[in-house]
Amino acid sequence: MGDRCVFLDRDRTVIEDPGYLTEPDAVKLLPGVGLALKSLRQAGFKLVVVTNQSAIARGLLTEEGLDRVHQEMRRQLGDHGVQLDAIYYCPYHPEGTVELYAHDSQDRKPRPGMLLRAASEHNIDLPRSWMIGDSPRDMEAGQRAGCRTIRVRHAAGTEAAVEQDEDVQADFTVRNLVDAARVILRESGEGAITAAGESAAPVGVVSQPAAKPPPEAKITEEMSDGQVLREILRLLRQMARAPAGTDFSALRLVAAIFQLLAFVALAWGLLNIPAAGTNYPSYVSWHLAMVTAGALQLIALTFFILSRQR
Ligand SMILES: [Mg+2]
Repeated sequence: MGDRCVFLDRDRTVIEDPGYLTEPDAVKLLPGVGLALKSLRQAGFKLVVVTNQSAIARGLLTEEGLDRVHQEMRRQLGDHGVQLDAIYYCPYHPEGTVELYAHDSQDRKPRPGMLLRAASEHNIDLPRSWMIGDSPRDMEAGQRAGCRTIRVRHAAGTEAAVEQDEDVQADFTVRNLVDAARVILRESGEGAITAAGESAAPVGVVSQPAAKPPPEAKITEEMSDGQVLREILRLLRQMARAPAGTDFSALRLVAAIFQLLAFVALAWGLLNIPAAGTNYPSYVSWHLAMVTAGALQLIALTFFILSRQR
């Protein structure tokens, strides 16, 4: 079994985003990033940054320039005792102006190329890993790689922007990387982290592993309506993903309902087989019942097959 990893988007997740970041001087860690990543590291997670860098394709930055930016980011993280396992970047963009980079790539998020490559090069177990980012493309890349996802949604995000991409569902939505780390540690049964200054307790991971969280919804009174809704959606998605033969499957329940309806339609048809010389309307309704039974049976089979494939 491979290692657990937390994949991190770079801009607005780990560091501030001043637009196209081209100078090491402009690198600034977001608040709490050092604490969050140190806690995850101590809990045994690998840390891999995956970032789209179309500035290179647009001619605003060279790969050497990007390397200097990343060296500065590593240096600042090092001040917090954090070491990244790797940084993967995608310099390509189909509308780039630098010919070498002016094309699409499997690495460009929302495609999962960088995550898949990192998994094979760093022995990472994707289903036990997480993707954290601030944009829907980060969530999609994480989901396509088979990871769980956490969306960092900063206070600056407007409601309009929130509604715009509501169709991209992260497993969790939080306000910053510290909260994201809390979610991961809680879900992994690793304990909790304590934000610096929040209490007198030492900063870092609580050494005693917490009891495994119960499978039911983790809905608390402090949660807003939106958070409650997202938690319910997360549970429904987990139920739909449940392996066949082990847990409740929503798809199999639907299949069973359609199967029952098919039996009812078939039974009605068998009990009402028209005798020779039956009037035309009775003959038509009998035919209709049999066709309905067949259609319901097909739908039931379809849902059953779908539930087996999950
Ligand atoms: Mg970002």
